[in-house]
Amino acid sequence: MDIELIAYTKGINGETPEKIIELAARTSYKSFSRMGEGTEKKLIAHLVRLGHLSVLEHAHAVFRVRGISRACTHQLVRHRLASFTQESQRYVNEEAFEYVIPDAISDNPHALELFKKTMETLADTYKKLLDYGIKKEDARFVLPNATTSEIVVSANFREWLHIIELRVSREAQWEIRELSTLFWRELYKIAPVVFSLNSFSGARDYSFKKEIFEKYVNI
Ligand SMILES: Cc1cc2nc3c(=O)[nH]c(=O)nc-3n(C[C@H](O)[C@H](O)[C@H](O)COP(=O)(O)OP(=O)(O)OC[C@H]3O[C@@H](n4cnc5c(N)ncnc54)[C@H](O)[C@@H]3O)c2cc1C
Repeated sequence: MDIELIAYTKGINGETPEKIIELAARTSYKSFSRMGEGTEKKLIAHLVRLGHLSVLEHAHAVFRVRGISRACTHQLVRHRLASFTQESQRYVNEEAFEYVIPDAISDNPHALELFKKTMETLADTYKKLLDYGIKKEDARFVLPNATTSEIVVSANFREWLHIIELRVSREAQWEIRELSTLFWRELYKIAPVVFSLNSFSGARDYSFKKEIFEKYVNI
């Protein structure tokens, strides 16, 4: 899988997303005079501690994701406050479809052989259906969950925090957990206070998140 951050909120004078959040947040008390270099850090940390998360909705990030399975995109698109545009199997020819192989399968030679043979059979069936004049939108019914897909995902920072909270978790399935860890790493680069480990201090599996943060996010 690979992800690419393709857009994120910036002020018209080049302000960082966290500065935009501060600008919005200070509207509450009209405390703009207290703004200065780095003042957003303390303010945002305070607001997140209070659970005053709606201010995070003023910043937004957009990613392009490639090479994840349809099993994974199906989980991702359950996040209703995010927006998505996904490669369509109705219009894209999938004769040479690529697929994700879970480690548990690639580590087992018998399982791997069976898996690959099944993929070849499905690709062959798909192609034959097209040859019989079946439309792509119907031939795709034989494509597996493992088929890779490309998707663009947009969400505000509050929703990104929520996605990370749920998906960078021991209980989450491995592929969406890996994907969400990559999101976290990129988001942490552009908004290090919002996406700091402290924002998850109340999480049930804080120690797991801490481990992931130290190994893969804060690098
Ligand atoms: C470990 C794990 C296992 C899962 N297993 C299953 C499963 O077996 N079957 C299954 O169907 N799903 C499963 N899911 C998906 C899960 O049920 C949610 O659909 C998904 O995680 C999106 O979460 P959400 O609704 O909190 O978030 P979002 O849709 O991203 O919404 C964000 C938040 O906005 C608020 N919100 C959004 N829409 C509404 C609304 N209509 N009304 C009120 N508040 C709203 C809620 O506070 C919500 O938490 C699983 C998820 C995880 C993390």
